[in-house]
Amino acid sequence: MRKQIAAANWKMNLTYQQAETLLDSILSEKLSLEAHQQVVFSVPFPYLIMANSEVADQANVAIAAQNCSDKKSGAYTGEVSAEMLQSIGINWCVIGHSERREYFAESDATLAAKVDICLANGITPIFCCGEPLPVREAGEENSFVQKQLEASLFHLDADSIQKVVIAYEPIWAIGTGKTASTQQAQDMHQHLRSVLASKWGSEVADNISILYGGSVKAANAAEIFGTPDVDGGLVGGASLQGPEFVQIIQALKK
Ligand code: PEP
Repeated sequence: MRKQIAAANWKMNLTYQQAETLLDSILSEKLSLEAHQQVVFSVPFPYLIMANSEVADQANVAIAAQNCSDKKSGAYTGEVSAEMLQSIGINWCVIGHSERREYFAESDATLAAKVDICLANGITPIFCCGEPLPVREAGEENSFVQKQLEASLFHLDADSIQKVVIAYEPIWAIGTGKTASTQQAQDMHQHLRSVLASKWGSEVADNISILYGGSVKAANAAEIFGTPDVDGGLVGGASLQGPEFVQIIQALKK
């Protein structure tokens, strides 16, 4: 089975002490993950080393950065490179979250470069895509999201694309409490998988995990994750509450 992934996105929340307490409370639950299940915590940069040491002895639990630079190194004050992440043992990174696309003007080309630099450093990119509300209302979500994939991922070869995790996050559902219906999520995920299959073949497409993000919580996770093309979730708000996120992990397909 494809990897089923519960990825927390803490965004710019929690103090160091709160982060440590939250992580401890979740890890103390003995998650008993199956071989195809993976948990990822995307934490603020200053907490990466602490969080990575907390999960060191936990099978199938990893720590991700929430962003990295598209540049290798040099005079880019305030930036963090993929090589730096790799040098502290971080093997996952969220790329192109809609908040970064919107507030930090990250373009498709920049995101393509970030995906490349992650892969070059052995880091799994969780590549985010998703349409804003007016696009959904115009019924143009399929072509909009397809173009995001084409612009930032289609330069990869078949081997490299299988090292990418995709997160479909309709912008109108992020942090709004409004979740895409199970059918809307499945329809888009099926569309994305067919886009991947048309480029790299269905065997490759079937290997790529596609996560859903947008107001996932314990109450809706099992239904959304239960659909054939949804391989888990990228979870913001609900990942900040230990018991809630544990239930979301437990909703991953067995
Ligand atoms: C996210 O941050 O990627 C997200 C989906 O947030 P939320 O779960 O709060 O909607």
